[in-house]
Amino acid sequence: MKQAIHPSKHTVIFMMGVSGVGKSTIGALLAKQLEVPFFDGDDYHSKANISKMSKGAPLTDLDRHDWLHALNALATQQLKTNSCIIACSALKESYRTILETAIEASTKWIFLHGTFQQIKERLQHRNHHFMTSDLLQSQFDTLEIPQNALQIDIHLSPKEMVTEIQKSLPIKTQFGLIGLGVMGKSLSRNLAQKGVRISMYNRHVTEVEEDIAINFKKEFKELASALPFDVLPDFVKSLETPRKIMLMVNSGSAIDAVIENLLPFLSQGDSIIDGGNSNYNKTKERFDFLKSKGIHFIGVGVSGGEEGALKGPSIMPGGDIKAYQQVQPFLELIAAKDKNGAPCCSYIGNEGSGHFVKMIHNGIEYVEMQLLADVCTVLKAKGNTSDQIADIFEQWKPTTNSYLLEITSTILRKKEGDDWLVNKIMDTAGNKGTGNWATIATAELGVPSTLIASALFARYTSFYKAERVAASKQFNSENITVPKISIEDLHNAYQFARIINHYQGFKLIQEASEHFKWALNLSELARIWTNGCIIRSDYMIELVTTFKTTNNLFAHKNTIQALKTRKSAIKKVVSECVLIELPIPSLSNAIHFFNNITTANSSANLIQAQRDYFGAHTYQRKEDDTGQFYHTDWKLNEPEKPTAHGNTSN
Ligand code: NDP
Repeated sequence: MKQAIHPSKHTVIFMMGVSGVGKSTIGALLAKQLEVPFFDGDDYHSKANISKMSKGAPLTDLDRHDWLHALNALATQQLKTNSCIIACSALKESYRTILETAIEASTKWIFLHGTFQQIKERLQHRNHHFMTSDLLQSQFDTLEIPQNALQIDIHLSPKEMVTEIQKSLPIKTQFGLIGLGVMGKSLSRNLAQKGVRISMYNRHVTEVEEDIAINFKKEFKELASALPFDVLPDFVKSLETPRKIMLMVNSGSAIDAVIENLLPFLSQGDSIIDGGNSNYNKTKERFDFLKSKGIHFIGVGVSGGEEGALKGPSIMPGGDIKAYQQVQPFLELIAAKDKNGAPCCSYIGNEGSGHFVKMIHNGIEYVEMQLLADVCTVLKAKGNTSDQIADIFEQWKPTTNSYLLEITSTILRKKEGDDWLVNKIMDTAGNKGTGNWATIATAELGVPSTLIASALFARYTSFYKAERVAASKQFNSENITVPKISIEDLHNAYQFARIINHYQGFKLIQEASEHFKWALNLSELARIWTNGCIIRSDYMIELVTTFKTTNNLFAHKNTIQALKTRKSAIKKVVSECVLIELPIPSLSNAIHFFNNITTANSSANLIQAQRDYFGAHTYQRKEDDTGQFYHTDWKLNEPEKPTAHGNTSN
């Protein structure tokens, strides 16, 4: 069931102590930090009281009676809508009883204390203060030290006092973020802009990473009420329970290190959300480990990069559904919205399914990027400048728009001096591992997502720069020919390959869903990929409807029609590129895969025969539909009747 985000319970904080302890200064500072109103009790005295005090005469209990009731009324009124801080000396227990009448459960007391000498010296430094030593002594005499107050020693600096107070305040934050790198910072700002009270933590590494959270908070006004930390236990204490803590740290050992450091301070029922690009197998392991400790673990794929994380990413949460429901309102609040205004965040499934689909999202992304790179290769070979290629992409937008097409257009137009910046970039493409994992996953699951592998290996090949330069001198044709490819054919080939890419990506997800029993919903997945994420596109919007009728794109009439219409174009484009030695790894892979998957009788019969020859791996026969396996002694000259080998093959 969907929950709303409830603000933390409202609280009135009375900041008390004798005159001169700094109630107003600390109260105002704390109020600013918590973004709640601050009231100085002295502003609520009657004219008579003010005149009496300014003459240096002490107030009697009778003088204070109406004033204390006025402050109680103020607190009661504030509690209806907000927390607040009220500075008031409240020296006697009886005064405090009036102040908290009927609101005891929502009242917190903070007692600022110091020595007589300390406070006297402070007062002497204040101009125009009416408090004499005698009056101060009378305050110390009157003071009944509260038993239920948080005691703060005024020898601390104001900043230290506020930090001390925050640690034990009942006003807890609602959501915690660990790791203030690119993504953590953007997500923190996104949450704060949506009104969520957050705590932010970044590790302290002396002389390398110092005051990251404090300095970050200072940079953005929306973080005014966010609490910054570089001490982990303090960060944890600042969060309301059950705690919701999102990790935006690098995947791998950093996640385990943070979890290990966090664990001693967590309580049963708290949730850790891993928003990084973690491996889905590790997510399952962490899920099981933390379950044994009573801690929920939710593996969340987040897509959209720095800007998406700030303005609204696409979010793919996986794990225990009940634990997810605790964090659901927060994730939905910060997620991008689809064309109907629904959040691009949806529970994916059990275990590491959230991270699995994010990994495949990245695999699809690798291919979409490589296809655009392939298209640019052809257009460049046709003699187009970067600006002209961008112009062509602009013309494709009405029929083929996508986030990646848009940014590629922008990238292509960027100039540095007389040349386009893209021409100055070293042609060796990096990666952070998700394409690698997606390729491993597709191999492990036995699904032919060949395009992801083609795009990944294209990046790997790019890294062999020196070898490529040397080989180009050895093998490239001397006569460079302009490809005889029309823009229209190239556009159709590009669209064809994108369909194959989406077919393969979703097929891999569907197969994983069946293998791991995740019951994934492809239409819903396509929906949360229609905005916020890197692979958002008009085609993705179309797939939301397509996957409502089938999980197999190749069984859908629109797909069949689109592929039939564009088949001749991709054949022309790829053939021509092969002839003139233009590398287009993903475009060419798309048509090769297509030719394979649409072949009713493949060459795999020969593979089976070869396997049976050298390894006795057996084979099945076309005329026998029982599934029976056979073995043949291939070296005998005489035809031999094959022997049946049960129903399994190795
Ligand atoms: P950054 O490198 O910018 O930030 C990483 C953060 O993790 C830093 O705050 C760093 O702290 C912290 N960190 C690293 N190691 C440790 C450790 N051992 N203990 C505590 N904290 C540690 O990464 P991003 O923000 O780009 O990425 C974070 C995660 O999000 C990654 O898994 C990434 O793959 C994923 N992601 C990134 C996207 C992007 O576009 N950048 C998009 C989608 C997902 P310190 O500053 O002290 O080093």
